[in-house]
Amino acid sequence: MMDGTDQKAANLVLLGPPGAGKGTQARMLEESFGLVQLSTGDLLRAAVKAGTEAGRQAKAVMEAGDLVSDEIVIAILRDRLGEPDCAKGVILDGFPRTTGQAEALDRLMTETGQGITAAISLEVDDNAMVARISGRYTCAGCGEGYHDTFKTPATPGTCDKCGGTEMTRRADDNAETVEQRLRAYHAQTAPLIDYYDGKGVLARVDAMADIDTVAQELNTIVAQAVA
Ligand code: ADP
Ligand code: ADP
Ligand code: ZN
Repeated sequence: MMDGTDQKAANLVLLGPPGAGKGTQARMLEESFGLVQLSTGDLLRAAVKAGTEAGRQAKAVMEAGDLVSDEIVIAILRDRLGEPDCAKGVILDGFPRTTGQAEALDRLMTETGQGITAAISLEVDDNAMVARISGRYTCAGCGEGYHDTFKTPATPGTCDKCGGTEMTRRADDNAETVEQRLRAYHAQTAPLIDYYDGKGVLARVDAMADIDTVAQELNTIVAQAVA
């Protein structure tokens, strides 16, 4: 792993529909490059669990597979970005998801004299996403992601990373909600691919390949971004 002293504080955006592998890859990049993974989905699920005002408003929207309002998500992201650990650079996983969020992110970055170093689009076939999402589960102890078929722990039921045995599945990871989430992606988030292409920071990765192959491609792109 690079120790963080000889690399630039790159800020990366991971784009891709639900199930594309953003969370899986962001965790690996966090380990390899010492960047901080920021998942607005995780932050929102934590707010729902904590019963905050934002969480109360977000709950039903998330269960329906729609996008939470820009106002709520931007406020949550702004707070988290302001914490000191983010100074070494962040991997945004699931944010921005609308043009309004992308513009707000640009303003936040400008305020702190930073910018988006690279936006990486994980390119997949919609048809494969239902299987990816229906088989997804997560270690409750450390958040490591698994899949019934594509990424199973070495010992069934036991997390490779922390040894935990409690695994959770998300309420919105069902076939019906996935369809709505994919629709929301195409209507509201896919235009961001052009947004970042226009800024000259877009990279495209074939994310239909297996997890390790995708990780290798991302490593090459991110190594350039922090050089
Ligand atoms: P996202 O964060 O984009 O919604 P995840 O990283 O949670 O996606 O991946 C969705 C599911 O698919 C998880 O169960 C994960 O283990 C699995 N997965 C991720 N990347 C791949 C891949 N390249 N091939 C097959 N399965 C994958
Ligand atoms: P996935 O990568 O599988 O789509 P996430 O964990 O990123 O899942 O998001 C889960 C849900 O949280 C989304 O369907 C949406 O309701 C909400 N959400 C997460 N990030 C955002 C965002 N940036 N803007 C609006 N809603 C969001
Ligand atoms: Zn674990």
